[in-house]
Amino acid sequence: MPGFAWYSHELCHWHDPGPGSGYVPVGPWVEPLRQFAVDPDLRRAEGLVRAYGVLDRFDCLTPEAATDEELETVHSAAHVSRIEEASARGGGDAGVYAHVNYHSSRAARLAAGACAAAVRDVVGGGHDRAYCLVRPPGHHAEPDRAMALCLFNNVAIGARAAQGMGLSRVMVLDWDVHHGNGVQKAFEEDPDVLYVSIHQDGLFPPNSGSVTETGVGAGEGSTLNIPLPAGSGHDAYLAAFTDVVAPAARRFRPELILVAAGVDASGHDPMGRMLCTSLTFHTLVRKVCDLAGELCGGRCVFVHEGGYSAWYQPMLVLGTASAIADLPAPEDPFRHSLDHLPGQRVQAHQRRVLDFLRDHHPLIR
Ligand SMILES: [Zn+2]
Repeated sequence: MPGFAWYSHELCHWHDPGPGSGYVPVGPWVEPLRQFAVDPDLRRAEGLVRAYGVLDRFDCLTPEAATDEELETVHSAAHVSRIEEASARGGGDAGVYAHVNYHSSRAARLAAGACAAAVRDVVGGGHDRAYCLVRPPGHHAEPDRAMALCLFNNVAIGARAAQGMGLSRVMVLDWDVHHGNGVQKAFEEDPDVLYVSIHQDGLFPPNSGSVTETGVGAGEGSTLNIPLPAGSGHDAYLAAFTDVVAPAARRFRPELILVAAGVDASGHDPMGRMLCTSLTFHTLVRKVCDLAGELCGGRCVFVHEGGYSAWYQPMLVLGTASAIADLPAPEDPFRHSLDHLPGQRVQAHQRRVLDFLRDHHPLIR
């Protein structure tokens, strides 16, 4: 009887971009604190999911490291070598703000391998849904460049794994607060992979993720960016899903939905300026599951990306995991500080982005 799969690996917690403050390594003006995306927090997130019995609803699986062949469905061989060599040296920047330690290459291969395995599992009928709680994240990693904590592009490698199993149409939905430039770049000319990103307008990378980026050549129409203004909250995210994401999916008719399920669009995240709560992510996951049920036999795979609030990330992961496992939204003692904010309602300038896409995007206009 298929159920839900949980992919994680101890070594993913051993990746560490080294001493710094926030995302900036130690140097002039920067005293040692810690860089984001080190994983006492992700380990605590998994601990919360276990403590509240939600992990018991999943089959916990240990992934294999992605092979060169799997990585090179998205990345150049030179890129893979650069990550390996930087890791073997024990540290340094393997790209642009993509610092590594000795374990990073192995951790990144395991994160990508988890994603590919989860896709094969769900597409093969082994489980109904899967969640990969992995690090390092992946959606900024371009075919030939590591970027912003991301070494290998986990969801892109997952999408290629699905194509390798014969799927004709794969949808990648990315609700990390940053734009997934790496996923977009990997598939912008591929009409068979629809990339949809809901992100904070103009945040990171600079000049990336505009409404006017709709795909290239044969891929025209298969890139859909929803850049919400800073300050968008629960209702704006749900409106983006209902008014843009769902109609696009119904037009595209994917055979699998892969979600880059970052939680850094929360109202307590230091890297973004959005207002989402654990209920937002729980509701979005439920909507994806319903949409997958309608369009592709329920097949969906969720992959962790960003999330940098030490105190709130565990609750956001619990909300995500609970929804995947068909459980109600958890009680969230942090929501009282976010739910009442006026920005939780849709504002006119946020609505304009959705209206523009509905009227102009080649897939849904
Ligand atoms: Zn992010």
